[in-house]
Amino acid sequence: MAILVIHGGAGGDGPWLGKTPLDPARIDCMKQVLQQVGSKLESGEIDCLEAVTLAVEMLEDEPLFNAGQGSVIGEDSTITMDASIMRGSDKAAGAIINVSKLRHPIRAANVILQQGWPVIMNSNAADEFGIANGVEEVSQDWLKTELRLGQWQQWKNSKDRPGSTDEDDSVLDHDLEGRVVTEFSDEGMGTVGAVALDSNGGLAAATSTGGMTGKPAGRVGDTAIIGAGTWADNKIAVSCTGVGEAYIRTCAAHSLATRYQFSSDLAQSATRLLDEVAPLGGRGGLIAITSDGEFIMPFQTRLMYRGSWKNGSLEVGIGPPLEQ
Ligand code: ASP
Repeated sequence: MAILVIHGGAGGDGPWLGKTPLDPARIDCMKQVLQQVGSKLESGEIDCLEAVTLAVEMLEDEPLFNAGQGSVIGEDSTITMDASIMRGSDKAAGAIINVSKLRHPIRAANVILQQGWPVIMNSNAADEFGIANGVEEVSQDWLKTELRLGQWQQWKNSKDRPGSTDEDDSVLDHDLEGRVVTEFSDEGMGTVGAVALDSNGGLAAATSTGGMTGKPAGRVGDTAIIGAGTWADNKIAVSCTGVGEAYIRTCAAHSLATRYQFSSDLAQSATRLLDEVAPLGGRGGLIAITSDGEFIMPFQTRLMYRGSWKNGSLEVGIGPPLEQ
């Protein structure tokens, strides 16, 4: 049995309003990721670790998701990205914080994992490490898209405060949806992630993000933190998306693993976790898969881009209903 599950971020409040004009491209991207990476995973050509890395690389390459090219823009008008990856069998992990020059931040995190020490690298040194290890170097201009520049301007004009841990006024890029009516107003977008189970029973999880629009320089989100945004052990692999501060404060991904260990009810464990995260301002969602092949994709927002691949059968969704 081999299973791949992916997400492209959660966001928005209120009822599902249907697809936006940009959503078909996001759906296409998710289908390609699931088809291409899922079939390699199924055939045994790649293991779970390479599957989540490749899946996230492809999502980083889609400018409509908030990771790699098309990442959201920080307060100081630069893009900085976080990513992390973990293998369940030996709890090997790698993470990079606030890189600004890499096309595929997740590959740099993968290289850190493979090297075994250290586990986390940050900023310029992490960029240089990635480049020295073959990760493609790109410019800030290449990473920035018109869509994100528009969202950044919208954020600046609205004077919203991003990245705050204050529940009342923290602003995710997702929250700009539907707040102000502009051409960008109802675009769901977000962090990307993948979890996989390979035919040897191996589990892995990976997550990558540009963070939140207007985030202050130096801010570190949950996506870079092993146990908060990403976790894998020999029973479960988890990748989260949402307001990172709340996911950090609840050690969300690891907390789901602990809850599952004690209850063995995956859906209930996830609901309880999201109920703990939400009061801290942590609206969002997660994807998780277990060594038994059970997987879930819950979210407490208007939408979460998500999809799964199992035995050649593919499902994707944005709002509540899933499509084949
Ligand atoms: N969790 C990410 C962060 O806080 C954002 C997201 O998932 O959209 O950086």
